[in-house]
Amino acid sequence: MDRPIKCPHCQYSTVLRTEFVVGKARPAFLFVACPDCRGIFKYDGLTGHASFPGGSGGRHIPLISGVLSFTAAVALVLIVRPPWLVAILATPFLIFGVMSFRTALSASQREISELTGMAPVTEETLKKLEDRF
Ligand SMILES: [Zn+2]
Repeated sequence: MDRPIKCPHCQYSTVLRTEFVVGKARPAFLFVACPDCRGIFKYDGLTGHASFPGGSGGRHIPLISGVLSFTAAVALVLIVRPPWLVAILATPFLIFGVMSFRTALSASQREISELTGMAPVTEETLKKLEDRF
């Protein structure tokens, strides 16, 4: 039963082998680790379609959390009176906001898929994330 698979991350083509499978999801979905780039992708056992684990529209998630963080920081500035309290309360929101924007703008599609999707996050992505911050 040779099922052809094509990695959506690096376009590497091969046949599905059990050692590539890293997890299973609803009815016929498999999570497959690309033997070439080690990227995780979702494989639909019924249609043979390979896709990014988090869908392709995952980039807006860190963007939204960035916008919410900045909104929270601005709200604190408007609501809270003593400036030192504003600084203490708003700083974590600002830092998180900046981090989210940087992730949204600079992370690769594969990292976004791993961070926002259901697939396990690879060590490589965690490492890159640490380097960035
Ligand atoms: Zn690949």
